[in-house]
Amino acid sequence: MSHGAHDGRVEVISGVMFSGKSEELLRRVRRATIARKRVQVFKSHLDRRFGPPTRLVSHDGGEIDAVPIRAGREIRHLVNPETDVVGIDEVQFLDDGVVDACQWLANRRVRVIVAGTDMDFRGDPFGPVGELMAIAEVVDKLQAICVQCGGPATRNQRLIDGEPAPPEAPLIHVGGAETYEARCRRCHEVPRPGRHQTELDIAGAVEAWATRSRFW
Ligand code: ADP
Ligand code: ZN
Repeated sequence: MSHGAHDGRVEVISGVMFSGKSEELLRRVRRATIARKRVQVFKSHLDRRFGPPTRLVSHDGGEIDAVPIRAGREIRHLVNPETDVVGIDEVQFLDDGVVDACQWLANRRVRVIVAGTDMDFRGDPFGPVGELMAIAEVVDKLQAICVQCGGPATRNQRLIDGEPAPPEAPLIHVGGAETYEARCRRCHEVPRPGRHQTELDIAGAVEAWATRSRFW
């Protein structure tokens, strides 16, 4: 870990899907490599878009190696003592332990760059991302293009068989295609027949989200 200027800090790259979070994380990691920093990249094992979770991949085709993890606390054991920069992608799928891990790294002079979407398909805060935004030195919230109106998109629209998914929609939708779109607040639709959510719904929503890429 760096013994020069105190580089230790947490940077969050957040926003809706398709907003370019992975692209931006890749860009920062590449620049750190050019600056001869030693870099390690982790990502949630749940993200399977474009193949196995051993690569960090963006929609524009860029990619680098990444170490898949199941829980934030694994980072402490996997990070090399000489690492200067740690990147973490799809951080919304990780547990709260990732917040402690980021603080631990930043306090040890590591520059930590995390990327993840801050809202689930309901528009509610997603996993540890809100807390990470609070403890970060730098937060960038990116926007995509709303596929409905062409305006700036900030919301993740979940569709099941082409229809907006209600909050309690079954997670594994046998025989149906589940897709996600970037939409603005006005075009975002979550039919709300009732606001009853169970722990099971939420856990399953995370799993369903993680497998979304199969339908992109
Ligand atoms: P994220 O990690 O935020 O999901 P990526 O970095 O993987 O985003 O991909 C961003 C790229 O996705 C954009 O540069 C663009 O080429 C493409 N893209 C596809 N759909 C959209 C959209 N609705 N709005 C903006 N970019 C989009
Ligand atoms: Zn819109």
